[in-house]
Amino acid sequence: MKTVKTISEVRAFVDEKRRAGNRIGFVPTMGFLHEGHASLMKAAKAKCDVVIVSIFVNPTQFGPGEDLETYPRDLVRDQNTCEAVGVDLIFAPEASEMYPEGYSTYVDCEGEITKQLCGASRPTHFKGVTSVVAKLFNIVQPDFAFFGQKDAQQIAVIEKMVRDLNMTVKIVPCPIVRESDGLAMSSRNTYLSDEQRKEALVLSQSLEIAKNKIQNGERDANKIKSAIMDHIQSSPLAEIDYVSLVNVKTLLPLVVIEDEFLIALAVKFGKTRLIDNYRGQVSLS
Ligand code: AMP
Repeated sequence: MKTVKTISEVRAFVDEKRRAGNRIGFVPTMGFLHEGHASLMKAAKAKCDVVIVSIFVNPTQFGPGEDLETYPRDLVRDQNTCEAVGVDLIFAPEASEMYPEGYSTYVDCEGEITKQLCGASRPTHFKGVTSVVAKLFNIVQPDFAFFGQKDAQQIAVIEKMVRDLNMTVKIVPCPIVRESDGLAMSSRNTYLSDEQRKEALVLSQSLEIAKNKIQNGERDANKIKSAIMDHIQSSPLAEIDYVSLVNVKTLLPLVVIEDEFLIALAVKFGKTRLIDNYRGQVSLS
């Protein structure tokens, strides 16, 4: 496994692999890798001949006052994780390689899809995500790119970008990987104090409550939302950013649970903002 820092090295590697007829899989990450990231790499390995992972804490997707400077980083540990899964190449550029002086071009997916949910409290976030992912797709030119369902809105936005811009890459969504007690794995979990870590279980627990209600026939989105909020508010340390029940593709709010729906939530514990979601389907009556 090689680690490279420049775009020209990635291109040389990809050119050679593609000439040999290999199918290229790509997993973009911000590093500090955990089992969730590893599951994407394993999915890529199963579907593709060559797997490339990018590790880049992308400054343009962080808003003012967010955790860009403190975001956890550990390249050596990440290299070991990638090596163990059988990744072929890590692309770990400096910010100056991705955004050299004078850089000024951005990809912005407009409309409700980036304004709802996380877009409401992070208004510039998705513009940063689509811009860097478009750049990475141009650099790596993958056949398949693997993303975690943990960031459900990110997948919806990237799928829309790929459709709107006629990109040829195929997006492969992968299931959420959780700790044994249910907390969705995240590089940001490391910020939590012991007490916050315990109370952070309200996220996955409240989604379970919602899932059970829907399985028992509840279809009123407001009632389900209230049950979720009540449970989260049972934690004194939790501060709700949003709880939303939306259509999976458009991310527009639902009044009645129907078809393919997404329950997404973001909750802050101190300065740490955690997200989680449940994606389900009910048959149309
Ligand atoms: P990040 O490094 O947080 O930008 O995440 C990189 C990729 O890993 C994204 O596609 C995430 O959705 C995915 N990912 C992060 N956490 C998880 C998880 N717990 N389960 C599955 N995928 C995840």
